[in-house]
Amino acid sequence: MSQAEWESLCDGCGKCCLHKIREKNGSLTPTNVACRLLDTTSCRCGNYARRKALVPDCVVLTPASLKTIDWLPHTCAYRLLKEGKDLAAWHPLISGDATSVHTAGISMQGRCISERDAGPLHEHTTSRIL
Ligand code: SF4
Ligand code: SF4
Repeated sequence: MSQAEWESLCDGCGKCCLHKIREKNGSLTPTNVACRLLDTTSCRCGNYARRKALVPDCVVLTPASLKTIDWLPHTCAYRLLKEGKDLAAWHPLISGDATSVHTAGISMQGRCISERDAGPLHEHTTSRIL
């Protein structure tokens, strides 16, 4: 798979750019607080090319890193690929429409708050996002 093909798998949901709390027992508690670089309207990274320099703990998805990551949402195309599952009908590669991830209600559009405005992370935990 070429780099462009790999990148095109991303549906633009923005879910992986939400903060998660790793509990002492290893479980994950999701929040609706977004990385400061996420555009909470478009659900796209505000500076994708320089994301790692601007947000050092941003995790870059690669075929190698995908093997060890346990926090991608069930809808994520990379997770589906890893699990041998098909893309959903709303995925832009299937629908042919980049906005279908939003109209299908899958993305975080209108459902998250930037860490710039959120305040304490533990006040924004949720079980409804992923
Ligand atoms: S969760 Fe997966 S599909 Fe959604 S934005 Fe992140 S990488 Fe892309
Ligand atoms: S730097 Fe960009 S890609 Fe990385 S978590 Fe933040 S918004 Fe998402």
